[in-house]
Amino acid sequence: MTRTIFITGGVVSSLGKGLASAALGALLQARGYSVRLCKLDPYLNVDPGTMSPFQHGEVYVTDDGAETDLDLGHYERFTGVAARGSDNTTTGKIYTHVLQKERRGDYLGATIQVIPHITNEIKDFIREKDGSADFVLCEIGGTVGDIESLPFLEAIRQFGNEVGDDRALFLHVTLLPYIPAAGELKTKPTQHSVKELMSAGIRPRILLCRADRDIAEEERRKIALFCNIDQNKVIPALDVKSIYEVPLTYHREGLDTQVLECFGIKGAREPDLSVWENIVRRVKAPEGDVRIAVVGKYTDLTDSYKSLNEALIHGGIANNVRVELEFIEAEIFEGEDPTPHLEGVHGILVPGGFGQRGAEGKIKAVRYAREHKIPYFGICFGMQMAVIEAARNLCGLAGANSTEFGDCKDPVIGIMTEWVKGNRVEQRAENTDKGGTMRLGAYPAALKKGSRVAEIYGSPSISERHRHRYEVDIRYKDRLEEEGLLFSGLSPDGNLPEIVEIPAHPWFVGVQFHPELKSKPFDPHPLFVSFIEAAVKQGRLV
Ligand code: GLN
Repeated sequence: MTRTIFITGGVVSSLGKGLASAALGALLQARGYSVRLCKLDPYLNVDPGTMSPFQHGEVYVTDDGAETDLDLGHYERFTGVAARGSDNTTTGKIYTHVLQKERRGDYLGATIQVIPHITNEIKDFIREKDGSADFVLCEIGGTVGDIESLPFLEAIRQFGNEVGDDRALFLHVTLLPYIPAAGELKTKPTQHSVKELMSAGIRPRILLCRADRDIAEEERRKIALFCNIDQNKVIPALDVKSIYEVPLTYHREGLDTQVLECFGIKGAREPDLSVWENIVRRVKAPEGDVRIAVVGKYTDLTDSYKSLNEALIHGGIANNVRVELEFIEAEIFEGEDPTPHLEGVHGILVPGGFGQRGAEGKIKAVRYAREHKIPYFGICFGMQMAVIEAARNLCGLAGANSTEFGDCKDPVIGIMTEWVKGNRVEQRAENTDKGGTMRLGAYPAALKKGSRVAEIYGSPSISERHRHRYEVDIRYKDRLEEEGLLFSGLSPDGNLPEIVEIPAHPWFVGVQFHPELKSKPFDPHPLFVSFIEAAVKQGRLV
């Protein structure tokens, strides 16, 4: 029997609902249950693929090629369960389905309305998960009280009513703000938020209260009384230094115990949390530090590089070091010499990106890393910039560039109009719709025997997740290889370059895919482990 836990948020956004859901998933898993996590997003976009990282943070890509909310990254990092496209939906997607059905004539005769047509579609999304795990954790994006969330609240209310309390549970994440003048944490916003939820017909049975300091017994009692909740189920969720402490602290506060109690589950085994204890021990007591410069564009909002930041931390955990990240806005290198910014760093990374702004600065960063023999990791756009740099400065092709920025003399990076996915050929034109039309999701690559990456992966073939429109043009392969840039990973048909490396450099690797999406704290991605290991070595030199 599948039990569904709905996670809503109140008072303010950015409470870490995604993290709370992921951590609860990890706790239930540690007790031997299977879990599946999914997210309902109230915004109107069909998916976050076309949103700026400034608006919405990173776009998380699944193996099956969906562009999804970054919370799915948390789910996968905490539970190890590979996220699927069907784990995330939005108002835009729900309406698109309903309107397609309306046009097809599926509802002939009916007036299409939010209730029941939209709410039914939302319930179908939830029901479709039934049977796929012991627990389905379903997070509702946004904040209770938003107009946009109403159909979602109505749908989960109906769902809860249909399956009953022993199969559905509502967990509400709220905030207790500290008011310095009063010298106390305030419970009123939480009371109001619960009231708002109740007016939608939803009675939360667990409250997860975010606060920046201890929540006194008296405050918990008050919340319990006013919100009609058992006091043991008013659970403090205090700020912690590392997100990987969250499962341990929630367990200490009784979250998983209370969840099981709500469902009337007795005799569940105590969770085995040794994996998390190990991770936290390493995060808290590193044996050294490395400094990595991330030369990118969306550096003001670190959420835009969520998975990347985590994957670098995982590489640090594997090497017992703390990874200090220095985000550098690439554009500043266009007017300035990068030396003062980059000398002394132990590794340079150029992450994924779109558009011309900052590209020349990134190319300068690549050149600095190559010439000064500093470990370099180029991811997607970062690989493309490395190829342009090599074409210009090693092969003497001064006009080398990407057609993403317009026509150029040597288009070493160009748009891909056709490629093979499984046993089908996918096609694109320059003017195709922007949403969902990149090379997306998992693709295999064959690694060159004896190359650095073959050794790192310990396997001749790999599968990694992609999200890009442009590719390195294979016709420049021989020319670039003559100058020392080895094409060490290719698509199985040999047409699409997947990895380049410089064997004569201490560590210089560019990958067309996004390895950060698959890294987990308990299973760090080999490329990040190896990159940080190279940075540690570099640290001994500087
Ligand atoms: N803008 C580049 C492309 O579309 C790189 C994309 C990325 O880094 N994800 O190919």
